Amino acid sequence: MKLSELRNELEKLVVEHSRESYRQLAGLDYSEKKIQEKANEIEELSKKALNELETSEIPRNLRWRLIGGAVSSRITELENEIYKKRMNEVKFREGKEKVNLGNWRTWNSKNALNHQKRKRVFDAIVQQGNKLAPLVEEGFKVVKENYGEHGLDVLGMYLEMEETSKKELLEVVKYSAKKAKGPFEKLSEELSPEVIGKQMEYYDDIYVYRHRIYRPFDETFKEIDYVKMLNEIFEDMGFNMDKVKIDAEQREGKTPSPMCASIKIPEDIRILYQETTPFGDFTSYCHEVGHALHGSSIKKEIPFEHKYIVPMGIAETFSTLFESLATDEVFLKEELGLSEDRVNEIKRRERFMELFFLTFYGANSQMKLEYWDKGYTIQEASQRYGELYDRYVGQKMPGKYWLVHHIMPLYTLYCPSYLIANIRKSELRNKLIKEFGRQWWGSRDAGRYLKEELMGPGSRIPLKEFSKMKKEIYLNEVLKE
Ligand SMILES: [Zn+2]
Repeated sequence: MKLSELRNELEKLVVEHSRESYRQLAGLDYSEKKIQEKANEIEELSKKALNELETSEIPRNLRWRLIGGAVSSRITELENEIYKKRMNEVKFREGKEKVNLGNWRTWNSKNALNHQKRKRVFDAIVQQGNKLAPLVEEGFKVVKENYGEHGLDVLGMYLEMEETSKKELLEVVKYSAKKAKGPFEKLSEELSPEVIGKQMEYYDDIYVYRHRIYRPFDETFKEIDYVKMLNEIFEDMGFNMDKVKIDAEQREGKTPSPMCASIKIPEDIRILYQETTPFGDFTSYCHEVGHALHGSSIKKEIPFEHKYIVPMGIAETFSTLFESLATDEVFLKEELGLSEDRVNEIKRRERFMELFFLTFYGANSQMKLEYWDKGYTIQEASQRYGELYDRYVGQKMPGKYWLVHHIMPLYTLYCPSYLIANIRKSELRNKLIKEFGRQWWGSRDAGRYLKEELMGPGSRIPLKEFSKMKKEIYLNEVLKE
C-alpha cells in the first residue's frame, strides 16, 4: 500500500461514514447497519496500513488516526448504543409529555418558569445518567487500552495536538474559573429573577439561561432574516456560501445542540440546529457558520490529514470568532441598527453567559483532564465533577450530570478546547481589528487573510502568527465590568 492510496481510500470511507452518521444526528432515516459497515471498513484499512507502512513513513497525526481507526468498529457500536439510549431510554414521561435527551433543551425553554416541573424532569433525567455510564466507561477504556498498546496516552496526544502542556492548560482552566466565580454570582443575582423568575439553583443549568436570557431581544430578531444578512456579508468577504447547507427544522431524534458537519471537505458542509428562540438561534448560527466557513475554505488538494485531522482548539477558534459577531457592539449597531442602550443590555447579558461558560466549562475541563491524568472510574469522575461544579459554579449539582451532557460523555476530551479557542479567538480578533479595521467583517482583505492563510491550510495553520496563548486578552474582555 502506498501512502497516497491510503489517504484516498480513508477519505472515501470517512466521508461515507459521516454522511450516514449525519442522517442519524439530523433525525432523518438512517441505516445503523451502514454506519457499522463503514466503521468496519475503516478498521480494516487502518490495521492494514499500520501493518504495511513503515512508522516513519506515516505523518504523526495520521498514524494516531489509524491507531484510533483500529478500534473503529467497537467504538461505533458503542456510539450507536449511546445514541439510542439517549433518545429512547433517558427520558421522562408525564401524561402526554415526553422529554428525552433529544428535546430536553427545547422543552426546558418552553417550561422555564414552571420550576417544580422543570426540577422533576431534571432530577429524573440526571438520575438516568446511570443507564449511559457502562457504555461511556467501556468506550473510554477501549480507547485508552488501544492507544496504550502503541505506547501512547490520550491526554498526551491531546496536549500535543493542541500545542499546550498539562501544566499550562490546567493553570488556565483553574485560574479563569476562579476569577470568574465572584462576578458570575453577582451578575446571576441581578439577572436571574428576571430571566428565570427566581435565584439560580442547581437545575438551572447554562442551557436554561442560554435560551432565556436574550428574550427581550427575541421580538427584534424574529423580524430579521439574519441568515440571509450574514451570508451576504460572508460572500462579500470572499467566502463561498453555496457549499454550506442549512437545516433548521425541528425534528424528533435530531440532536438538541446546534452543530456543523463537515462531511466532505471542502465541498459538503452542513449546519444543523432546531429553531428554539430567535436571538439564541442567531448566536448559534454565527457559531456554526464559523465552522462552515472554515470547513469550506480548507484547500481541496492538501493531504487527508491536513484536511480532516484539525485540532478542536483550532476548529473552535473560527466558530467562536464568528460567534463574537453576534454580540459585537459595532456589528449590532452598524449592521443591525440596534440602539446604544439595547446593545449595552445585550453586552451585559453576554458577559453573564461568558462568566457562566468559564465556571461551567472550568468544571467540565478540569474533570476531564483529571480523568485521563489520574485514571478515574466513572463513579470517581462523577464524584469529582460534583465537587468542581460546586467550587466554580457554586451549585450542588448531582455529579452524574456530566453523563447526560451532549459533549462530556461522547468525547474523550474536548471541553478544554473551548477555552483554548476563546483565548486564541480574542488574539485573532485583535489582529484582525489592528490590520483590517474595527469592522473587519466588511473587509475583503480580512476575508482573504482568514480564508487563504489561516483556514486554507487546515491543520497546518500558522498559529504563531496570531496566537501566543495569552489568556489576559480574553479574560480582560470577560472580567471587566
Ligand atoms: Zn463549535
